[in-house]
Amino acid sequence: MLFCARRNSGNPDYTVLVVNTTSATARKRRTRPSGRSAPGHSGAAWKSVHSGELEILQAPALANIPWLTHGFSTRMGGSSTLAGKKTLNLGFTGWDKRETVLANRRALLSALGAENLQLAPLRQFHSDVIYVLDRPPQEPPRGDASITSAPGLLLAVQTADCVPILLADAKRRVVAAVHAGWRGTLQRIVLKTIGRMQMVLGTRPKDIVAATGPAIGGCCYEVGPEVAQAFAAQFAAARDWFEGPFDRLIGGDSPNPLQWLNRMPPGHQPPLPRVHLDLRAANRWQLLKAGVLPQNIFSSGLCTSCRTDLLFSFRREGKISGRLMAVIGLRREES
Ligand SMILES: [Zn+2]
Repeated sequence: MLFCARRNSGNPDYTVLVVNTTSATARKRRTRPSGRSAPGHSGAAWKSVHSGELEILQAPALANIPWLTHGFSTRMGGSSTLAGKKTLNLGFTGWDKRETVLANRRALLSALGAENLQLAPLRQFHSDVIYVLDRPPQEPPRGDASITSAPGLLLAVQTADCVPILLADAKRRVVAAVHAGWRGTLQRIVLKTIGRMQMVLGTRPKDIVAATGPAIGGCCYEVGPEVAQAFAAQFAAARDWFEGPFDRLIGGDSPNPLQWLNRMPPGHQPPLPRVHLDLRAANRWQLLKAGVLPQNIFSSGLCTSCRTDLLFSFRREGKISGRLMAVIGLRREES
């Protein structure tokens, strides 16, 4: 199974998409301290490619590179049927037929003019396992990021809340696709991917253009104390990515001092407080740490959970959610 979201509240999910900037709902629900959003964060900078009923989101900075093709799918169009509506499910979910998913994938490649590229998905498992591919694998390898400099390969990650990140080294013609939920983010998967690009293919971080696609936003991504504590233990900057009683959750030996103060019997304690996590902000921090220039980082701003009209959200939709796909590859010939 390739889905990225899990039912447990502590797990991240995500997927992709763009077009508009942060939704009205998201704006209403959250207020961020100023100075945190990235240059290029505006959804207005993204473009929407229509092909039949399909709608594919693209970051202009990547779309402008002639030897490269990329896209973040939406749920629009497609041959799958969900709640009586046609939808573009790109993952092998329990509710959909394999042939239908394969037809959807062909439709995605066709919409991108990438029919002569070979799709290279992964069997994702929230890891920091990264592949450098020079040819299409026989079977999707188990991992959460892939890198290539070989024309004709279309790298792919699937999401339904987690953060899809596409990277392109515009100088050396190297591309990468990264799947980062909270576990992958905690394991610094995007930072490690850039490290591999440097080591294996000579990429310089200042030449990288990065696009983070639609994902569950801080507006909707509620997590428990275990996630806050794990991030606090790993990142000095973690506080900047959370909203809510972060300091209360990570401080002290007792996870919930209220239960002592209230003298309530076991089973009647108030629930532990929860916080909201902005996974894209955490990954942007890693991109900057890796040496990617701020002006080369582009984020769609779309929240999968706020925008189930356009995107899939495992958190919101559960088992009947589909999967979005983010793809990037080198064209076989220059156009
Ligand atoms: Zn949201």
